[in-house]
Amino acid sequence: MSAQEFLNEGLRWRVGNGASIRVWGDRWLPTENATYVESAPMGLPVDATVRELISPDTDEWDEAVLEGCFPTEIANVIRQIPLRNIEENDRLIWKGNSSGNYTVRDGYRLWMKDFKAREAIVQIGETQVWKSLWNLNIPPKVKHFLWRFIRDILPTGDHISLKSNRWGDKCPFCNIRETQAHIFGECAWSARLWRGTELAECFELRQSECCYSWFKTVLENKQSAAVEEWGSLLWFIWKERNAQIFNGLKLREDEIVPRAKAFIDEYREQQVIDRGVAAPVTTTGWEKPGQGFVKVNTDAGVFVDGGIGLGVVVRGEEGNFILAAAKKIAGRWEPEMAEALAAEFGVQVAVEARLQNLILETDCQTLTAKLAMAENIHTEIGIVCRNILKMLRETGHSSWRYWSREGNKAAHIMSHSETRWNESMVWLDRPPIFLVDQILLDNVTAMPA
Ligand SMILES: [Zn+2]
Repeated sequence: MSAQEFLNEGLRWRVGNGASIRVWGDRWLPTENATYVESAPMGLPVDATVRELISPDTDEWDEAVLEGCFPTEIANVIRQIPLRNIEENDRLIWKGNSSGNYTVRDGYRLWMKDFKAREAIVQIGETQVWKSLWNLNIPPKVKHFLWRFIRDILPTGDHISLKSNRWGDKCPFCNIRETQAHIFGECAWSARLWRGTELAECFELRQSECCYSWFKTVLENKQSAAVEEWGSLLWFIWKERNAQIFNGLKLREDEIVPRAKAFIDEYREQQVIDRGVAAPVTTTGWEKPGQGFVKVNTDAGVFVDGGIGLGVVVRGEEGNFILAAAKKIAGRWEPEMAEALAAEFGVQVAVEARLQNLILETDCQTLTAKLAMAENIHTEIGIVCRNILKMLRETGHSSWRYWSREGNKAAHIMSHSETRWNESMVWLDRPPIFLVDQILLDNVTAMPA
């Protein structure tokens, strides 16, 4: 694949205000296979921009234009693109995931090097990089090792003066000059360890010899659990390398990766026991929001006949029922996006009911992670997350958090209630009959906040 072909394949537009995107010819449809409109839309100039599909009055998709100019399946895809805030700029984003195959990896490297679109993925600053390192849940000795690794100051062959080291500057496994980049990634021995494991994806995120940018890229693309396992394997590689040089005890090659993983697992377990939370957990159920606050539980469900259901339950400080809402929308949605739409719907109804000091609660952990760094999420879900945060900011001391599924059952029930398509149903003051039992149960089992 040539560079240009790759760039065309790997990038697509995420619609903001639509002004920079041509309807015909640009890749801007957020689907796997059909990323662009293949034939000139009927009744639109060939150089029309996506902006022209958005109604200036409502800032929403112009239904008349969608229906008149596009085949139904394309119109449906367009309807699923969230607009929300017309002030958002259009943006080129990276649609690939580094699944470990060579085309993608080579392309990824190329993209990083030749195309100044790094902002297309989550970007974090240097302060955050170091902060994230110290926040990792790994043993202090591994943390210090990682710190030296990231600063590229481990005593590898190239860092040690030849006079003072008896083993020379060669890699103990293959006799090539040893640098950090070599021993942890380029050496055939360590590359073998990475491949075929769960950590292969982290390995593929290595785009240069720079250890700092490897760490940064892993941070930007992986959950902290994977970052911790990545760090542990680096540390095990370093231990094996030292054992090889100093004739220490070596592990069997096929044991290294499982041991590195088990090492981190054991540490995590120990942490839990130390903190005393290994005792039976009794507070995973629903919790009352506390004085002066209103709790908004939200959930999304999938309907067998297609489409998703959004469910919302809002309760006051004593667990008193305020409102419930449900909405059914068409289309195929990623689970995370569905949860984001449910949360957005929940906050929206609470805002319309003029409620203040909201605690938004979702059982989707990755959504809360996205909310935490919404400014840096450039895909469609980022738009929805920013809209949620904007509404929360306008409702007093509002916040959001992840909570267990166990504590989110009421919203779950609402998300599966049968309602009409695309129509919000709201129950005020009295819960719908199918929700009564769960509301009572939650209040009986609720611990005071
Ligand atoms: Zn080597």
